[in-house]
Amino acid sequence: MSAHKSDAVIIGGGIIGTACGYYLSQKGLKVAIVEQGYLCSGSTGRCIGGIRQQFSSSGSIRLMMESVKHFQNMEQELGTDVHWHNGGYLFLAHSPQKKQAFLSNIAVQQAAGLKDVRWVEADECREITPGMDATGLLGGSYCPSDGQAYPFAVVQGYAGKIRQSGGSIHTFSKATHILQQGGKVSGVRIESGREFSAGVVINAAGPWSRDIGQMAGIEIPVEAERHEALITEGVEYMNIPMLVDYRADGGYFQQYRHNGQFIGCYTPVPNVPGHSTDSTFEFLHQMPKRMLKLVPGLKDLKVIRQWAGSYENTPDGNPILDRTGLDGFYTVAGMCGHGFMLGPAMGRVAADLIVSGGRDLQYPEFALKRDFTQAEAMK
Ligand SMILES: Cc1cc2nc3c(=O)[nH]c(=O)nc-3n(C[C@H](O)[C@H](O)[C@H](O)COP(=O)(O)OP(=O)(O)OC[C@H]3O[C@@H](n4cnc5c(N)ncnc54)[C@H](O)[C@@H]3O)c2cc1C
Repeated sequence: MSAHKSDAVIIGGGIIGTACGYYLSQKGLKVAIVEQGYLCSGSTGRCIGGIRQQFSSSGSIRLMMESVKHFQNMEQELGTDVHWHNGGYLFLAHSPQKKQAFLSNIAVQQAAGLKDVRWVEADECREITPGMDATGLLGGSYCPSDGQAYPFAVVQGYAGKIRQSGGSIHTFSKATHILQQGGKVSGVRIESGREFSAGVVINAAGPWSRDIGQMAGIEIPVEAERHEALITEGVEYMNIPMLVDYRADGGYFQQYRHNGQFIGCYTPVPNVPGHSTDSTFEFLHQMPKRMLKLVPGLKDLKVIRQWAGSYENTPDGNPILDRTGLDGFYTVAGMCGHGFMLGPAMGRVAADLIVSGGRDLQYPEFALKRDFTQAEAMK
């Protein structure tokens, strides 16, 4: 079997792999994506489509401000309706400590250029969220330019553009070896034995990125962790932003603008490490209770589906976007549960890094070898 030849091979057909592929294609590179399942079969197809700029690290804030611009222009750029809607995000503070943390983060966000984020008192939270039960609420951190989009449409949009530019996407093609020649990366071998040769290889395997790194003897500090989600039937759009309630019995949920479905999840305590995508009755029981606590008027909504997927956590809650010790081999992974929203800007920055060949990282805070003690607070 002759080797497939391209300029760059990307391992992973989620948001990160396809965004990297799109921006590299735009720069004239011939791209091949190898994906062990189908496009979106990993975390991307299991996420709830939220897009926010409210983070505590200035790198993530700036990157997300860029991503939001990409989402805003995506329909025109990709020729696909990705259901972008700027419905906003409202983080709720039920304790003085949370209020103080949000106020500090708002200062960092505004200093990074995010001008429309602001503290809102409890009364305004109620106005922003019709029907909200604000018992015990002190206020919230609100950013109206945050929003939502549909992950499958974004990935298909990028994939279509990659193909139009002469690139190729190989589904059900599991990478098993990183190939090397003369101390440089030279391609990827997949399970069938077929080889994909290229001078650039990108590890965009999300929750599996550690395994891909190990194929080249490189340690990628990313751990998978199960998160569950559910979706309801669609009802008339209620103009409720994404609500984020960090309390122990809280959660996050939003209503899709395009079809009126509510979609949500919460972070399990204790966390559930590993690649399991099993669903639990506990989640099915808990999540609606947590939603009703905030918006009691949703009580007649019917849940139509639940599922689970993986977050891909790094030790500090920030992504990795960097070269590795092997020349030509890059890692864009470890999005820590924010990869859908980060994807467009990550893809653009990764493509610039690869094509420019420069030594400096645009985001040194996302270097592979870094001090992992500065944790992201708005996880
Ligand atoms: C319940 C839930 C809710 C979420 N909500 C949000 C949200 O609202 N907003 C947000 O931004 N993010 C959210 N996320 C996180 C988001 O889904 C991920 O951060 C993002 O999808 C990561 O994208 P990725 O491309 O890095 O990984 P993936 O989408 O997992 O893509 C990696 C791909 O690599 C493939 N792969 C792995 N190993 C190999 C191999 N050896 N060979 C070939 N292919 C391989 C996998 O099959 C997979 O398709 C959520 C996640 C979950 C689970």
